[in-house]
Amino acid sequence: MRLTAPDGYTASRDYSVASAPEDTGRIELTVERLDDGEVSEFLHDVVVPGDELEVRGPIGGFFAWHGTGPALLVGGGSGVVPLMAMLRHARRIERADLVRLLVSARSPDDLYYADELPGPQSTVIYTRRAPADAGRAAGRLVLADVAPLVRGGETAYVCGSPAFADAATAVLIEAGVPVESIRVERFGPSG
Ligand SMILES: Cc1cc2nc3c(=O)[nH]c(=O)nc-3n(C[C@H](O)[C@H](O)[C@H](O)COP(=O)(O)OP(=O)(O)OC[C@H]3O[C@@H](n4cnc5c(N)ncnc54)[C@H](O)[C@@H]3O)c2cc1C
Repeated sequence: MRLTAPDGYTASRDYSVASAPEDTGRIELTVERLDDGEVSEFLHDVVVPGDELEVRGPIGGFFAWHGTGPALLVGGGSGVVPLMAMLRHARRIERADLVRLLVSARSPDDLYYADELPGPQSTVIYTRRAPADAGRAAGRLVLADVAPLVRGGETAYVCGSPAFADAATAVLIEAGVPVESIRVERFGPSG
């Protein structure tokens, strides 16, 4: 997405598509508001319905899941956004059995798509504050979280901050997922 100020100054940032490919004619983006974030703050605080925004894409086809083989999706924070598109697609084509989604959030307040995520395909872990019924103490992603979700033969899609992506990749390898079956999208600073 590119923003252009009246004086011609521009700022571009990457955002993932959250909507299912079946949702033609519209795309859904989910943007985390970063304090002092040039573009995310503008999108949260200034943009109003009816404003026109400049976008190009989609790009990053290496991270696309085509809905044919089993997929293990592992997202941290707003890294769940492109994985949500995959989960929605799987549910639309009635192949939700192909997908297992593991989401790591700081606390219930930080969980994106809290209403839509629940289902047999999804597991949520909390790193800082877990609800009483979580069945797991708050803490970072570890092998015990991932191992039960690995079936063999799947492609893993990992998305989140660079630190989360690296940690989750290491845990997937520890759980026996071959490194060539792991695709990673890092939500580092872009633009
Ligand atoms: C391929 C890709 C897909 C992405 N998809 C999404 C998405 O779907 N939703 C979403 O909310 N973001 C996404 N991002 C991150 C997004 O592109 C921006 O980096 C983010 O919105 C911050 O931009 P900003 O202009 O608000 O902050 P800036 O003004 O660029 O930075 C402000 C401060 O925050 C730090 N910072 C910048 N980006 C991040 C970050 N991602 N996490 C933590 N600190 C950061 C900077 O180092 C700086 O200190 C994606 C990034 C990539 C590379």
